[in-house]
Order: sequence, then C-alpha cells, then structure tokens
Amino acid sequence: MIDDKARLIENLTGVRSSKLNYYVELKKRNREIVIQNRRLEIIHQLSRDINIDMSLEMIVQRVYENLPLVIPCDFLGLITLEGSELRLVATQPPLPCNGLVVPRNSVLWEIIRKQQEQVYLCIAGDGKLLEELPVRQFELNCLILDPLKVKQNIIGMLVIGTREKNIYSQNDLTFARQLADQLAICVQNRRLYEEVVQAKREWEEAFRARVQMQAQLVQSAKLAAIGEMAAGVAHELNSPMTVIIGNAQMLQRELVPEHPASQLLKDIVACGLRCKKIIQNLLTFARQEPPAVAPTDLNEVVERVLSLVKYQINRNGINVCTDLAPDLPRVAANGQQLDQVLINLLLNARDALEGVERERYIHIRTGVRRDENGRRCAAVTVQDNGQGISPENMSRVFDPFFTTKEASRGTGLGLSVSLGIARAHGGTIEVESRPGEGSTFTLVLPLEEDRS
Ligand code: ADP
Repeated sequence: MIDDKARLIENLTGVRSSKLNYYVELKKRNREIVIQNRRLEIIHQLSRDINIDMSLEMIVQRVYENLPLVIPCDFLGLITLEGSELRLVATQPPLPCNGLVVPRNSVLWEIIRKQQEQVYLCIAGDGKLLEELPVRQFELNCLILDPLKVKQNIIGMLVIGTREKNIYSQNDLTFARQLADQLAICVQNRRLYEEVVQAKREWEEAFRARVQMQAQLVQSAKLAAIGEMAAGVAHELNSPMTVIIGNAQMLQRELVPEHPASQLLKDIVACGLRCKKIIQNLLTFARQEPPAVAPTDLNEVVERVLSLVKYQINRNGINVCTDLAPDLPRVAANGQQLDQVLINLLLNARDALEGVERERYIHIRTGVRRDENGRRCAAVTVQDNGQGISPENMSRVFDPFFTTKEASRGTGLGLSVSLGIARAHGGTIEVESRPGEGSTFTLVLPLEEDRS
C-alpha cells in the first residue's frame, strides 16, 4: 500500500523523491506558475491598458512597475529609431538624458544593422557599451537587448538590465522577447496616433485659414460696394456744393464786412469748402489714382497732424512730446497719405492708453537710420506707454479687419491701410511692443537717393 502511494506521488509529480522533496518541488513549481501568470498579466496589461495617447515615458513607467517581480530588472530602457537616428527616449529609473542619440559606431547600431534577434550580454566591465548607454550609475551586470520589430522592420530596441550576474534563464529571455513584441506594437500605435493628430491639426489650420479668407473676401466685397456707393454720393454732392459755395460767395460780395450776416456767410463758405475737400478726397480714394508725390518733410507732417489731433489727445490726459531731428532730409511722398498714417498711429496710441493708471505719454521722434537692406531712411516713431500688444496678436495687427476694439470704435483697417501706404512709398512700418508696458510703431521711408 505504502509502496503504491509513493509510486502514485511519483506518477503524479514526476518526482522521484521523498515527501519533503515533493513539497519543495511543488512550492517551486507553484512559484514559477505565479511568476508566469504575472508575466502574462504584464503582457495583457500592455495590450489592454496602454492607450495610444500615452507617452512613451508613461508606457515604460507602467511596464517597470511590475517587471522586477517577474524578471531580474534594475533598469528598463526604450530606444526608438527616428529617421536615421537611434534615440534613448524613455528609461526607468528616469535618466536626465532622455532623447540621447546613440552613436553610429555603437554595439546597439550593430545589432540593428545585422538584424539580430535578441542579444544577451554580460556587461560588467564592458566600458564601451556603458559609454553608449549612460547607465554606469546603476552598476548593471547583465543586459538583454531586444530589437522591436514591426513586420520585419526594426523600429527600436528594448533594454532590460540587472545588477545580478549571469542570471537570465531561457524563460526570462522568452518573456523579454514577448514583451518586446508587445512594446513594438505600442510604439507603432503611438506613432500612427501622432501622425493622425498632426494631419488633423494641419487640416484644421487649413480650414480655419480658408474660413478667414472667405470672411475677408466677403468683407472686401462689402467695402468695395460701399466705396462705389460713397463715390456715387460724393459725385452727386459735388454740384450742389459748388452752387452753395458760389451763391454764398456772391452774397458775401454784396454785403459790407460789418453786416451781421457777413460772418454767417463766411462760415457757410468755409464749411462748404471743407465739404468739397472731403468729397474730393472720397473721389480720389474711390478712383484709386496714383497719389501725387512731392518732397515731403516728415517734421512738417508731424506738426501738421499734431495741430489736428493734439487737442483730442491732451483732452484724454495724455502728454504728447516730440523730439524732431533738425535738418531731416525730405522724402518723396504724398503728404496727405503720410498724414493719414500718422493720424492712425497717434489715435491707436491714444486708444492703447485708455484706462492706464500710470502717467500716460506719447512720444514722437523723427530721424535718419538705415533699414535692414542698408538703405538710408527717414523714420518717424510713435511710442506710447499703453497696454501693449499680446504676443499672439503681434503677427495679426497689420491684418485687414483685425481689431481688439469694440465694433463701434475699431474697423481693423487703420494699420493695414497705413502699411499699404508705407509700402507704396517703398518703406514699411515696424512694431515693437511689451504687453503692459507699451508699444512703438515706426514708419520707415527710404530717402530719395536710396529709393529702389
Ligand atoms: P483699429 O484701430 O480699427 O482696431 P488698426 O488696424 O489700426 O485697427 O489696429 C489693429 C489693432 O492693433 C488694434 O485693434 C489694437 O489691438 C492693435 N494696436 C494698434 N496700435 C496699437 C498700440 N499703439 N498699442 C496697442 N495695440 C495697438
């Protein structure tokens, strides 16, 4: 009977041993099964929990959490092939040198070039490999290098290291291979995800640009229609205005200067002439005739414009100071258009100072300087200590219809029209700004001898 039992145990366990040996063996097998289960869990977790939008660092971190329970592991590293470069992209424990490029003449490159399947190295004292992978601090003795393969293409490498010596069993190597296969899928999925996200971003940007362009086209068409209408109205007003002015002048001539109606008639003539001028400007603008160009003194432009808007600006409690260069050479320009540019810059500066608590100022300077092509230029600078322009708006301030002002105050055309005028004169407008501190706009115009 006893004999039968011993045989039975032998048959069941395959162990020719005593009872004690049997239990030791059973415990060992049990441990192996637990480890095997954990390994399967890790592989399973990789396919189940790891999302495509997880970073490679996070994936490596998740794998490393359980890895030392199933395989000797004091270091886990993920190397990926990016273009023609091999990069160490994620490690556990984390290294500050993530992103490090592996040198071309390295052991790692050799494995890839030879399309080797799996390499198990005892590296204690192997200075070369330790130089390539900056892991000296972990005092590793054994490394498994497992290429990550997707359809026969190597896309990277998994590195598992331990301080223990000559330790990895065939089982460990098989598991490392399975882990590498699963990681290869994760890395590949992550890449595809990045490509899709990038393509989506590009498509959205293109779509936004198209919508914006369409809106601008609609707005331009509207403006063109309004312009045409305004030109028609101006044309119609021109003749009655001539009659009003002519008649008022005739009446004026018949009255003695002391007559009480004389002043009234003078006002009618002055206002009538002003209206005619506005009508004339409107017609010129609508016809888009090339503007008359004449030698123009920028200092005179500044003084003329200030005589028009200084009062308005001062009324807002803003100090206006000027620093005009003596003997400023003249520029070939249309004075009226330059007036328009300067008025725009000054009114924008005034608006930017609204609500600013500190002492507010606008500083206007003129001078001669060289532009980026080395041409001698005359420049007029308008500097304010207002709210400034945020970095994201900086590239948009010259865009037609871009405005941060409420609809009743801003059209978003001032700077785009001003830049158009500057460019038509062969010049430009430069801008510098610090949010919360102020902005500086500079109209730069080439001098006669340097115009090209
Ligand atoms: P608008 O004055 O009708 O808004 P502009 O083309 O003149 O149109 O200006 C466009 C935008 O540029 C303004 O709405 C404002 O946000 C910004 N901007 C222009 N000048 C200044 C300035 N001196 N300081 C701060 N922001 C400015």
